[in-house]
Amino acid sequence: MTDNDGDYLVRAISSDRQIRALAVRSTDVVREAKRRHNTTVLSTAALGRVLTGSLLVGAMLKSGLWTELRVEGEGPLGSILAEANLHGQVRGYVQNPGVELPLTDEGKIDVARGIGPGKLTVRKNLDLKDPYEGSVELISGEIGEDLTYYFTQSEQTPSAVGLGVMVDSDLTVAAAGGFIVQLMGGAEDDAVKMLEENVNRIHSVSELIAEGIKPEELLDRLFGDLRFRILAETEVEFRCRCSRERTREMVKSLPAEDLREVLSEQKRVEIRCQFCNESYEFLEEEAREILEEIESQ
Ligand code: ZN
Repeated sequence: MTDNDGDYLVRAISSDRQIRALAVRSTDVVREAKRRHNTTVLSTAALGRVLTGSLLVGAMLKSGLWTELRVEGEGPLGSILAEANLHGQVRGYVQNPGVELPLTDEGKIDVARGIGPGKLTVRKNLDLKDPYEGSVELISGEIGEDLTYYFTQSEQTPSAVGLGVMVDSDLTVAAAGGFIVQLMGGAEDDAVKMLEENVNRIHSVSELIAEGIKPEELLDRLFGDLRFRILAETEVEFRCRCSRERTREMVKSLPAEDLREVLSEQKRVEIRCQFCNESYEFLEEEAREILEEIESQ
């Protein structure tokens, strides 16, 4: 069993196997993202929703390969990118983490304005040569609605997605989480109607999570009177794929003259990982070794 205080994702299916649903609590994931990227209230909420959405999408692939969610908006936040896999590992970043906007008239974080009009792209099986890719125009910039639209339009799978991040004004991430419900085809009209009502009754995922509602309890609310069973429970965490070794390989793929130039100016090479903000430093001696390796290729 997973630790009930930590983040985890639960996958479930209705007894007639026509409806699948996933729910996740991602509070610590978003806290870690905030810590690493030094995000504002606005950029924490936006990045948090994309991270949470990618965890849900990543958990629907049978393979352990990585999935990417990319939101390219014209708003001040710029692009937001997150990658996740079936094992609950997720990493991601927002292009302009320092952007802040006033709350909306209803007192909500204005994620839609931060993102602006643009496009949402989902790429699956990133590790393969030809990853699957589909994209849609953003219809709201709130991410949850955009993912709903993506599944319905691009994958022809009627779905409902809810994503939420609650950030207090002192920048503490109070709660984060999300759910996705999908009709696999052949579901009874009555069941679909009931499901719609249940989904509509959930006004705010982050409020429920802040109240202490667990992912499996979120599923209880989504399925309501419909019978379902839990298929799997997975811990989720912010975890990057970068390493010193991989970064070294990257340096090795640079043109020799570029590396030589950096070395003569700075006497060392520093590479920062965009996804987790970790910085890798290669001092002169090691950087010269890499340069020799490039030149002897
Ligand atoms: Zn990294």
